[in-house]
Amino acid sequence: MTALLSIENYHLDIPTFDGTLKVLDGINLSLAQGETLGIVGESGCGKTVLARSILGIGPQRARRTSGRMTFDSMPLDELNEAEWRRIRGVKISMIFQDPMTYLNPLLTVGRQLSDVLVAHARALSRPALSRQERRRRCSELLDQVQIRDPERVEASYPHQLSGGMRQRILIAMALAGEPKLLIADEPTTALDVTIQAQILDLLRDLVHRLGLTVVMISHDVGAIAAIAQRVAVMYAGVVVEQGATNDILTHPRHPYTQGLLGALPDIEGDHQSLEAIPGTIPNLIHPPSGCRFHPRCPRATAICTSDKPAMTSIGADHVVACHHALD
Ligand code: SF4
Repeated sequence: MTALLSIENYHLDIPTFDGTLKVLDGINLSLAQGETLGIVGESGCGKTVLARSILGIGPQRARRTSGRMTFDSMPLDELNEAEWRRIRGVKISMIFQDPMTYLNPLLTVGRQLSDVLVAHARALSRPALSRQERRRRCSELLDQVQIRDPERVEASYPHQLSGGMRQRILIAMALAGEPKLLIADEPTTALDVTIQAQILDLLRDLVHRLGLTVVMISHDVGAIAAIAQRVAVMYAGVVVEQGATNDILTHPRHPYTQGLLGALPDIEGDHQSLEAIPGTIPNLIHPPSGCRFHPRCPRATAICTSDKPAMTSIGADHVVACHHALD
């Protein structure tokens, strides 16, 4: 299957006053049309930087040192700003953790949705939609995100709506350009648990109904499991394990993935059995040599401190970056 998004050996550095952060260290990912990929890892593992780099909105001083990203046969790293305007928010859309930060508190929801439609028409050099066409399209978009009283919502200001409703509005805006790829960056983290479940249900429904291709970023394994067909586990700027979600969750092979899953509470199980991963994520200015996980790994041996582990295939769709994956 041809990849819609392909990331090959991608390295990204961010210079700081204290030294250069080696934020992404040889990322390889690929996503076919209609697939959902979850990227999971602790805060600071580089998953959000990676997601934003796909959309060309990575940290300002970040620089790619090698590798490439290709979307729909276009080399993303070589696009100029005019080309990005035709892609960003149109062919690739993103929804964020805190919807309030991305909505204008001074404008009604209807006005903001309408502005998005105007901006898309301009970016794609299409004739502007009439006021009536924009109103019809706004209603369609609100219907797609299962908002049942669109007129009230369109007339509301963001502060008059609940967090879950605001996230639905942001998803509607992200769908306005009929994107080929939707990136969801911690879309449920800022919401109450019951609302989280509703937003995950909505995303799952959109994936099935619209055939969306989705990259979902989260530290929450449960949220990833609810959406993603495939999952990539990131640690300190490296993808350490990747494969079909069910396989990774039931047969994790990388010690970090095993630790991540072992740290999850089991409401039916032994309440004493939670096991935190010892230590903290490393300083990425001076990342550990060899395997970046070795200072925290219970299975580390001498080779782990000197040689970076290559990706090893351990199944039809399951790869692991660990010297001892096959032990
Ligand atoms: S390569 Fe070594 S240190 Fe890294 S995860 Fe595997 S066993 Fe642990």
